[in-house]
Amino acid sequence: MQHLYLHVPFCVRRCSYCDFSIAVRKRVPVQEYVHALLMEAAALPEGDFQTVYFGGGTPSLLPPEAIERLLRGLLPRTTHDGPRTIEVTLEANPEDVTPDHAKAWRASGINRVSLGAQSFDDTVLKWMHRSHDAARIGAAVYALRRAGIDNISLDLIFALPDELQRDWERDLDMALALRPTHLSLYGLTVEPRTPLDRWISRGATRVPDDERYAEEYLTAYRRLTTEDYQFYEVSNASLPGFQSRHNSAYWSGKPYRGLGPAAHSFDGTTRRWNLRAWEAYRRAIAAGRSPVESEETLTDEERELERVYLALRTDQGLPLTAPYRPLPPRDGWR
Ligand code: SF4
Repeated sequence: MQHLYLHVPFCVRRCSYCDFSIAVRKRVPVQEYVHALLMEAAALPEGDFQTVYFGGGTPSLLPPEAIERLLRGLLPRTTHDGPRTIEVTLEANPEDVTPDHAKAWRASGINRVSLGAQSFDDTVLKWMHRSHDAARIGAAVYALRRAGIDNISLDLIFALPDELQRDWERDLDMALALRPTHLSLYGLTVEPRTPLDRWISRGATRVPDDERYAEEYLTAYRRLTTEDYQFYEVSNASLPGFQSRHNSAYWSGKPYRGLGPAAHSFDGTTRRWNLRAWEAYRRAIAAGRSPVESEETLTDEERELERVYLALRTDQGLPLTAPYRPLPPRDGWR
């Protein structure tokens, strides 16, 4: 197994559009979390990982020492004793990126940071219930570069409600001025039981129609491709050589292992997923039970279907592997 995902479920509040599996906590139960993940890992066969991804939730809420402990516990050989050729990504919220944190992350082996920027407009960030303001994004990028982390991705959300009067082109300009190596662009989607869903149900807001969604996507596509970014996946663009190796593994159907609440694992045939809620996961580990909630084994047909739709998301497309069968000759043609 070459790809490892660690789900860190904690957030300080819930963003207005988010339905991820998170636990809102003022204080993160760091020791319990690290212990639970290492216990889960100890019950599984060892892996020789080429990519590690701390996703969430808000992984940057973990103190740097906890990240260090996890990496030392999970990657004793590859990260610390061998050449640092593996990609180790940390998802971070801009307000958590201080110069000291950035230095400590780099020292522990983090070499790629994915920043949840979302917008450079403070009104929009407030509406999203984000806990940073626009100025923090540039400060975070600066701190990361000073610490030696140059591989930086920014997330942005487009197709926001009209009343926000969000200037999408200005946001793209602000993001590009920071010259990140990678950008992930997501159209706003309305997930059930989120604050956004409730605002829409009571008529307080509306999401834009498909035309504006398409228009903003194409604006971004044109703007980024003229600046040397390549859309290697429908929502992801990078400078040459800076594609996310971890996420590319998902899109090419490679096996991966997930640890933590709600994390998924895939061995090429069977997909398993852990209990979603942090408390349920924690209790299962503490009682010595498996945290796996369920699993599905894909049929050949389902695997083929996944291969097709995942390949169509990427710029690799779909190789035509079906054997070519010439049509039978018509009468009189010989
Ligand atoms: S920080 Fe990320 S995971 Fe947490 S609530 Fe906001 S969008 Fe969801």
